[in-house]
Amino acid sequence: MKVFVVRKAGFCFGVKRAIKLAFDVAKKKNEKVYTWGPLIHNPQVVEDLKKKGVCLVEDLRKINKGTLIIRSHGIHPKILERIKKRKMEVVDATCPFVKKAQQNAKLLSDQGYQVVVVGEADHPEVQGIMGYADDSALVINHNRIKKNLPHFEKLGVIAQTTLSIDAFKQVIGELIEKADELKVCNTLCHATARAQKATLKLANKVNMMIVVGGHNSANTTRLAKLCKRIGTPTHHIETARELQRGWFKGKTTVGVTAGTSTPDWLIQEVVEGIKKYN
Ligand code: SF4
Repeated sequence: MKVFVVRKAGFCFGVKRAIKLAFDVAKKKNEKVYTWGPLIHNPQVVEDLKKKGVCLVEDLRKINKGTLIIRSHGIHPKILERIKKRKMEVVDATCPFVKKAQQNAKLLSDQGYQVVVVGEADHPEVQGIMGYADDSALVINHNRIKKNLPHFEKLGVIAQTTLSIDAFKQVIGELIEKADELKVCNTLCHATARAQKATLKLANKVNMMIVVGGHNSANTTRLAKLCKRIGTPTHHIETARELQRGWFKGKTTVGVTAGTSTPDWLIQEVVEGIKKYN
């Protein structure tokens, strides 16, 4: 059985940057260091950070001093304001792609557009972006486009950074009939787009795909969905412990890819684990 790994699988630059910032802060500070929610959507990395003294917090009442790191997904501006009032030091690890989406949301909102965010309403990145559009943006999930949307004078559309280009195009196609003026800002992240393209290329060639990454990671879940959509048997796992011997029966080629929040060591462990079933 041959095992192929997507060359650029794993950490993107936004995640690398956030993790480096967090470890640097943890090393320098003698006081408590927190991240607002998980720094990235990978439980193993979050656990590692915890061991180094970087704790996760989601309730402001539980903290009143120390340093708070804003995660790669960004933060709602009103929450940031409340944190700053507590005189806590803030380290901003928001990914520049997410920042761009936040800035576009604000610009569109200020220019009088009804802002539409194409993505998942409960994802922290989308919740943060909403705050930059006065919390009045519509969130549209490409799987559940409402047919009864009213007609708008001006619609301004942005995407959750990790959305696939096809899903974004699909929603734009639907919205074109719903507004006199439709302005689209391409806020898709290049790293995710590249990973999706490379993953699809490999998934087309192999008998089975293993997608490694947090079950709570939107971009990892999306990679698995893309592979399944083209009919390649696919398993989304977080660690090598989830591999099952039966999956590999009769398979001659297996592809491995990973979400942008998956560390190299987890990918390597999975590759080694697969080789044991040879
Ligand atoms: S996946 Fe893209 S948007 Fe998300 S952290 Fe990485 S580079 Fe930034």
